[in-house]
Amino acid sequence: MIKQEFKAESKRLLEMMINSIYSQKEIFLREIISNSSDAIDKIYYKALTDDSLSFNKDSYYIKVVADKKNRTLKITDTGIGMTKEELEHNLGTIAKSGSLAFKKDNESKDGHDIIGQFGVGFYSAFMVADAVTVSSKALGSEDAYKWESNGTDGYTIESSDKDSVGTEIILKIKENTEEENYDEFLEEYRLKAIIKKYSDFIRYPIKMDVTSSRPIEGSDNEFEDYQEEQVLNSMVPIWRKNKNELTPEEYENFYNEKHYGFDKPIKHIHISVDGTVRYNAILFIPEKIPFDYYSKEFEKGLELYSSGVLIMDKCSDLLPDYFSFVKGMVDSEDLSLNISREILQQDKQLKFIAKNIKNKIKRELESLLKDDRDKYEEFYQSFGRQLKFGVYNDFGQDKDVLKDLLMFYSSKEKKLVTLDEYVSRMSEDQKYIYYATGETNERIEKLPQTEMLSENGFEILYFTDDIDEFAIKMLMNYQEKEFKSVSSGDLGIEEDSQGNTDSEQQENKELFDYMKDVLADKVKAVKVSKRLKTHPVCLSTDGEVSIEMEKVLNAMPNNQNVKADKVLEINPNHEVFQSLKDSFENDKEKLSLYTNLLYNQALLIEGLPIQDPVEFTNDICKVMV
Ligand code: ADP
Ligand code: MG
Repeated sequence: MIKQEFKAESKRLLEMMINSIYSQKEIFLREIISNSSDAIDKIYYKALTDDSLSFNKDSYYIKVVADKKNRTLKITDTGIGMTKEELEHNLGTIAKSGSLAFKKDNESKDGHDIIGQFGVGFYSAFMVADAVTVSSKALGSEDAYKWESNGTDGYTIESSDKDSVGTEIILKIKENTEEENYDEFLEEYRLKAIIKKYSDFIRYPIKMDVTSSRPIEGSDNEFEDYQEEQVLNSMVPIWRKNKNELTPEEYENFYNEKHYGFDKPIKHIHISVDGTVRYNAILFIPEKIPFDYYSKEFEKGLELYSSGVLIMDKCSDLLPDYFSFVKGMVDSEDLSLNISREILQQDKQLKFIAKNIKNKIKRELESLLKDDRDKYEEFYQSFGRQLKFGVYNDFGQDKDVLKDLLMFYSSKEKKLVTLDEYVSRMSEDQKYIYYATGETNERIEKLPQTEMLSENGFEILYFTDDIDEFAIKMLMNYQEKEFKSVSSGDLGIEEDSQGNTDSEQQENKELFDYMKDVLADKVKAVKVSKRLKTHPVCLSTDGEVSIEMEKVLNAMPNNQNVKADKVLEINPNHEVFQSLKDSFENDKEKLSLYTNLLYNQALLIEGLPIQDPVEFTNDICKVMV
């Protein structure tokens, strides 16, 4: 018999698995049982659509048998089985489902998170077994085959005499070592506990011969052991159970069992709707951003069941993009089993469910925000960006769903605040919701444009995400208050102390015209500033495109070279203004030099590139000598 090598990648993963110090070796059983359950699902599904098969519930089960003497653990199922090719393909390769791409980026990982997360579940058997034998007979096939491997250097496949359809897996349990106890995986009580913990909701009975003791007949104090087959799992799927009967741990277990993620979800949402369209759903908001969330491989979607039978594992129509981080499942009795992806998109029931789910998630997030601010902020750090994209996308179609969920850093509170909180703090004479854009909060804090506003007690929202300003433009206003960038033309503030700016502007018209000529079309105008306090200059914009938007748009591939209409603003109360006036009278060349310097300084403050850095440094030197 020829020994087949595992595919190279599989081999590496296997080694990792076998040598891993994974603390929960017990999960191997969950993996094997859920494979068995999947295999029974498949035959069940076939029976529903194929009249020549009948599905007799009693003949579908999973059986676990431990044999201490021979150190074997046998798991048998009456599922769909595997052909020779399937044994080869399914158990000979791991390179499915992006697990390898991930692994390359995370070489240092010792396999902890990888197990189960990517459908490499079967191999976890090698954590506890020296050798694994899989005998299987596929539905509709005459022959049965046996796959055998000791995990390290490959596997063999030969004919087997298994005569019933299904699969039998025999694990040769490892000997105890000094550090590790493997005997426990042959102990009845441990196996019972593991199955209850992880596989309670498996829809098919998981049977085991359990030892009990009973009084010997005719005797009061003598007992005898006897064996009795028991079903170890409760079988009712968690989503059919009553919310009040379930503990947070049970939801968490379900989340892990389903491989939705390896973190602890921030929140679970259990929905049972008994209206025109009946459905149950369990949704989770993860705590951590899934590792592949921002990669091409990531697919949003919920598992979709029809009366308990899985029909699609990532139904994307059930979730809007901005809630793509939500994991979970939906089960409806009102969906047909024989439904294709194309038909599904048109399906009225499904649309109804999707809309329901969307609103429910929104409400749950709102209550999280209200009741557990810390948790919400944790969530927002991970997925807030997604919500902001949601406001912007599809021409703002869902902006009203999302606007109350947004948060931005506040100059006043020094933490994230909601728009509602901002507006509730606005004084009567405050017309606008002010915001400032920049790379970091620290940088924004130092922006000259925020000085006067802050000084006068106005709260400013800090926008540090590319998407922020675009989202806000789409929103246009919040509770009828318009958004206003601190750099935009008219800030709408009273100018008591600044009342003289207009006259300054008039008096120095020629100076400003001259400066404008020096800068030519780099700026639209040069003006006296109303927003500066201690800084000599800043840039503001006139029109729809802000400086931050210019940066973002120009960083995109095939950009249109969009330019903001910039205005150079001069602080009339700064000493520099006097120098400008003097040089306008006495030395025009100097004025040109100063103008260029000030303009370049303003660019630097905005984080914009200087067109000619060499000229800029030369200019500085000219001033120095
Ligand atoms: P996953 O279950 O995520 O696909 P596994 O490594 O657990 O990954 O299993 C690999 C594949 O082997 C399964 O997809 C299935 O096709 C096949 N398989 C495993 N166990 C069984 C079984 N008991 N009956 C039928 N097929 C099985
Ligand atoms: Mg599996």
